[in-house]
Amino acid sequence: MSTAQTSSPEPEENVKSVSPTMAAEVSGDQPMYAGRPEIYPRSVSGSFRTLKWTSLWVLLGIYHVLPWLRWDRGEGFPNQAILLDIGAGRGYIFGIEIWPQEVYYLTGILIIAAVGLFFATSLFGRVWCGFACPQTVWTDLYFWVEKVIEGDRNQRLKLDRGKMTLMKAVKKVTKHVVWLLIAFLMSFAWVWYFNDAPTVTREILTGQAGGWVLTFIGMLTFMTYLLAGWAREQVCFYMCPWPRFQGAMFDEDSLLVTYEEWRGEPRAKPAKGGTNFEGRGHCVDCSACVQVCPTGIDIRDGSQMECIGCALCVDACNAVMDRFNLPRGLITYDSNNNQLARSKNSETKLRLIRPRTIGYMAIMLLVLLVMVVSLATRTRMEINVLHDRSPLYVNLSDGSIRNGYTFKILNMENVKKDYVLSVEGVEGATMTVIGIEKNGAKEVALPVEPDQVVPFQVYVRAERSALAGSSNDMTFILKDTHTGVVVTHESVFRGPEH
Ligand code: SF4
Ligand code: SF4
Repeated sequence: MSTAQTSSPEPEENVKSVSPTMAAEVSGDQPMYAGRPEIYPRSVSGSFRTLKWTSLWVLLGIYHVLPWLRWDRGEGFPNQAILLDIGAGRGYIFGIEIWPQEVYYLTGILIIAAVGLFFATSLFGRVWCGFACPQTVWTDLYFWVEKVIEGDRNQRLKLDRGKMTLMKAVKKVTKHVVWLLIAFLMSFAWVWYFNDAPTVTREILTGQAGGWVLTFIGMLTFMTYLLAGWAREQVCFYMCPWPRFQGAMFDEDSLLVTYEEWRGEPRAKPAKGGTNFEGRGHCVDCSACVQVCPTGIDIRDGSQMECIGCALCVDACNAVMDRFNLPRGLITYDSNNNQLARSKNSETKLRLIRPRTIGYMAIMLLVLLVMVVSLATRTRMEINVLHDRSPLYVNLSDGSIRNGYTFKILNMENVKKDYVLSVEGVEGATMTVIGIEKNGAKEVALPVEPDQVVPFQVYVRAERSALAGSSNDMTFILKDTHTGVVVTHESVFRGPEH
């Protein structure tokens, strides 16, 4: 973890804001495309930096540990607490098992995640981007590796501008090898969520892993290395849609990283040894805030789409303010309303409970409630019935009529089930089930193994006199003999016109 201090601000070399908005400005003979200026963020310490490190290690810890948690589901079932078994078409989250038919739960989770993001943004601005987004977390880790191997900002600038030497080559190669190693570990962890973690780890380490696993690891390793090592802030600027519309979630009480222009301007370099700030602003134009910015922007130019809200400039500026015995918070994490109040020496207040935050919270709770109730009351058995189309019905030699159905039972529980099938709606109807009941019965016992979808071919036979017409409503009734739970399926029994 970086503990480098924000000491005296460094020379202003290469610290101009590199906002792509500015870079894209064209006039006269200027080229249509501006190359990407390399950003050399300086390390910084402070409360927000500590918060970022804490968030990074906690999130990476959760990401790597979760797939190793075990959950006993009984013999023959995966004992991984969180697993998306694509091959078997099952999702497991601790005691909850999701079948493909229940994919709407995923929709519920996505709605909660999206509204949760809106909620956090309306409260704390781009807190997701600055502290929790995987792109931020991995880029931050890559920056740290870069700093450890190549040195802090000035050393890296010097190294990159210098001639290629053996030492430079060794440093560059080492950095890229460590980056690739990190990318590999991140990708390795990703496949744990789709396979039994201990098994797939053993298979990979012993060279027995399948082609798909290796392909995924290879692709993800490359993407992580590319996005966190090379693309970095470009992902936030050009690839991520979130910065484009997150401004719609802000209001005057959202906490954002802002520069107190009313206090900082007119900015000027401090007089030699002087501490007199009469007639000038508190910004000493040291550019520390720009030097630490991972996206290379100058927050003194106002709120910008490129600002990911990481608040490292707050830490940098606070250190400068301390050195000049000026009040902290020239760059601050605060709401517009509080900024305004402070500029007028009025009282400031934190307004977390507002109509918009209440609205987001209500939507999240509502969706959560619907999901919990639906999970608690869902039946773990289901039937699908498909009437044979050709022929629609068969005239039997004894004058009765027969209809055929493909009947599927989904036993979503981890225990073997004994079901009983019956029909209602057509008087005297009997059933034969291929491989189970051949003589025709009003009720047929259908055993189904745990966690299985089993198809049956069912033939229903009825007397012609029992039919009201060519299409007769009929209901299949399936009963779980152990629990008494019943599911029904509306169908039809076809016959000739009377
Ligand atoms: S805002 Fe703070 S860190 Fe930035 S240039 Fe001014 S004094 Fe330095
Ligand atoms: S301006 Fe400040 S908060 Fe915004 S990205 Fe740069 S360092 Fe982070």
